[in-house]
Amino acid sequence: MPRALTAEEIAQVEDDFAAAALRAKQAGFDGVQVHCAHGYLFSQFIDPAHNKRADAYGGSVENRFRIVEETLRKVKDAVGGTFPVFIKIHCNAVEGDAQFASDLVYMLKAAAALGVEAAEISGFDFAKQPRDKRLYYMERARRAREASGLPVILVGGIRTLAEMDEVLEGGLDMVSLSRPFVCQPDILKRLQAGESSKCIGCFGCFSCYQKTGKRCVLH
Ligand code: SF4
Repeated sequence: MPRALTAEEIAQVEDDFAAAALRAKQAGFDGVQVHCAHGYLFSQFIDPAHNKRADAYGGSVENRFRIVEETLRKVKDAVGGTFPVFIKIHCNAVEGDAQFASDLVYMLKAAAALGVEAAEISGFDFAKQPRDKRLYYMERARRAREASGLPVILVGGIRTLAEMDEVLEGGLDMVSLSRPFVCQPDILKRLQAGESSKCIGCFGCFSCYQKTGKRCVLH
């Protein structure tokens, strides 16, 4: 059964994120991303459907985002001001979705105030999207970008070069791909060479995870 973290454990989690970010920098990576989506720990804190705490880390959006803010501050202190730090975050919620959309703007503004370079925007329901749907979170990401001023990276249902262009021409700043890399790990070179994406028949079976690695069942 899950249980609530103590205040000491929260501080330890934050310190561990900062130490991990520093190790990533020392290992030669170009930036780090603090993951606050897809049911991971920080996503559970910011989502009121999961977070039932009655202390300074639960209730209002300020409280639910506090662990992320404290972590970002510690990460920034650990890696130094010029090392890129991003967050990944949901734009929607199972319960109270409209309220969460306005909470998202608060969280992006708070991240921007801490010097976070950009937010990658996803959603809790990315695995349930219809096969033909594309750019799942475009509209909400665009509104959040406008209201917060923080650069936004869109992920979810982006398969082809034309769809990537649509994201950028629609006012967002960067594109993130996941399943297209499962289909074609060298997709960027192929697109540059004028080839087309093979990830257009994805039907969301999520059978990509296999014992011997990750590959699409279609090819
Ligand atoms: S294995 Fe299934 S979910 Fe994964 S990329 Fe292929 S069709 Fe899509």
